[in-house]
Parts: sequence; structure tokens; C-alpha cells
Amino acid sequence: GQSTQVRVRFAPSPTGNLHVGGARTALFNYLYARKTGGKFILRVEDTDTARSTRASEEAMIRDLKWLGLDWDEGPDVGGPHGPYRQSERTAIYKEQADKLVAAGKAYPCFCTDEELEAMKKEAEEKKLPPIYRGKWASATPEEVEAAKAQGLSYCYRFRVPSNQNVTIQDLIRGEVTWNTDTLGDFVILRSNGMPVYNFCVAVDDACMGITHVLRAEEHLPNTLRQMLIYEALGYKVPQFGHMSLILAPDKSKLSKRHGATSVGEFREQGYLHTAMNNFLALLGWNDGTEQEIFSIDELSTKFSLDRITKSPAVFDKVKLGWMNGQW
Ligand code: GLU
Repeated sequence: GQSTQVRVRFAPSPTGNLHVGGARTALFNYLYARKTGGKFILRVEDTDTARSTRASEEAMIRDLKWLGLDWDEGPDVGGPHGPYRQSERTAIYKEQADKLVAAGKAYPCFCTDEELEAMKKEAEEKKLPPIYRGKWASATPEEVEAAKAQGLSYCYRFRVPSNQNVTIQDLIRGEVTWNTDTLGDFVILRSNGMPVYNFCVAVDDACMGITHVLRAEEHLPNTLRQMLIYEALGYKVPQFGHMSLILAPDKSKLSKRHGATSVGEFREQGYLHTAMNNFLALLGWNDGTEQEIFSIDELSTKFSLDRITKSPAVFDKVKLGWMNGQW
């Protein structure tokens, strides 16, 4: 049969600068779309209103454009080719959450902070995992109506099926399995109407027809919740590839004390975008040969998911400097 077109996304949270890790994620997604004739989507994950800024979004877009990683589609707001912004899609999340409630796969929870706190304490004392065991999971429609009539505020919780194994075949990490008993019924929509991060990600990946989720390894634990949401909504589950960390030359976690780590800093220091892409591409990928200098066009034809390495990549600025001299 006809294979589906590849649709990938880069989904930054606009809470800071575009760091090398994020830029590598963007580049790998971009290259995979170019390689397969697919689509590369930019989705700004800005539902955390306390931490997200438009200035950060603009700076990230400036750096993506400097690298030449332009996206292929966007909504018709603020110009025909804007990025998708989660803050502009809240009606979609509400609609999907209501759909789950109507199907009994999520439910309104009227527990107060005090009640939740007490539950947490009790679980601690009994050495049980800190998961929701409140009464609203099994409330009758009458009880729910009565609570609503009282004007009590409520969130929506996802009803996690008990003792179910969920397995993914990660394109980089191999088979990963979770058991749902590690998870309590989690909040998908807060009482103030704001959707929760994992819910937005899953709904968007489903609605946008994302076929491959290529992202940093730190997101692997979120995948269980997201899998449950795709399945509950009846959507096709995408393939996942969780990329390994980028470490400093001393094998510690890359951080500010290692100097420049954001794309903007390298741009300001006069590095060439061609060298930067070349450098980022080789952070956890190679073509199986000794070749180290690649143009973006060459990468677009040579890139493949099965050559992404499972071991952490090392961020070596000497190499970046050397590459910069080759261009
Ligand atoms: N917004 C997340 C981040 O910036 C990425 C989420 C994802 O790729 O699924 O780390």
C-alpha cells in the first residue's frame, strides 16, 4: 500500500534561548523531513504562561532561520506561515478533554488542595506511591451534578487503566515498557481551564498527524502518559526516537559553566551557519564513514534514523572551530 507521508515536529518551550540540544533536535527532524519528502512542523509549546515569553519565541525563530531550518506549514495567524502556538489552540484541548469525559475515560475531580494534600500524606505514611486515590474516580453522575451545582471548582483527570503494560519500540532506545500502576489518574485540564503539558503534546501530535516524534531522552518518561492519551482518543500512535544526551568534554552534563551553549552565542561569535549545522548533525549521528564535512544538502540525502547513536554525544568546541575553518 501507499506509505504515509512523514510528518515531524520541533516543539520548543519558549522559556529561554535555543540551545545546542534543541537545535540538534530541530535539525534531525528537519533532515528527516527533507530526506523522506515529508513535512517539518514548528510548534511553540507556550501553555506555561508564567515562564513562556514572546521574546524567547522570536529569538528561537531567529536562530532557526539563521540555521536555515524553516518549517513547512503553519496556521493562518500573524501571517500565512506562522508557527503553531499551543496558547492559540486551547479550544482544541478542551474539546478533546470533553470527548474523554463523555467516553468515561476522564472524569471531573472536585478534590480541594487540602484533600489532595491529606491523600499524599496518607500515601507517604502507608508507603504507597503518591498517586490519586480520591473518590471522584467512581462518583455517580448525580454526585458530579450536585458538586457542579454547588459551584465547586474541578479539574479533569485521566482514568489510567490499572496494571496494564505499555510498550514502545523506540527507534533509538529499542523496546521500552511501562506498567500503568506506576501512574495515578493524572490531571489533563486544570481547574482554571488550562490544559496540562502532556495532554497538549499528545493531542497536538495526534491532530497534526505526526508520524515520528524525535526528541530528547529527557522526554522518555512522559511517553507513557502520552501513549495512554493517544489510545484513549483512538489515534494512531506515532513512532518515537529519544535522542541521547549531549555531554560536555569532561562527560558532565553540558551547562553554562562550559561557556557558550546557545546557537545565538555562536552566531554572535561569527561562526558560520553551515559549520554549525555540520557540527550539530554529528552530535549523535554519522553516515558510517569517516566523512566529517557535510553540507545541509548532503545531510538531507544521507541522514537516516538508524544511524543515530544511542550513546551520549560529546560537545567539543574544538571540533566546531575546526569545522568552521573548513567552510
Ligand atoms: N516542549 C518540550 C521542550 O521544549 C518538547 C516536547 C516534545 O518534543 O515532545 O522540551
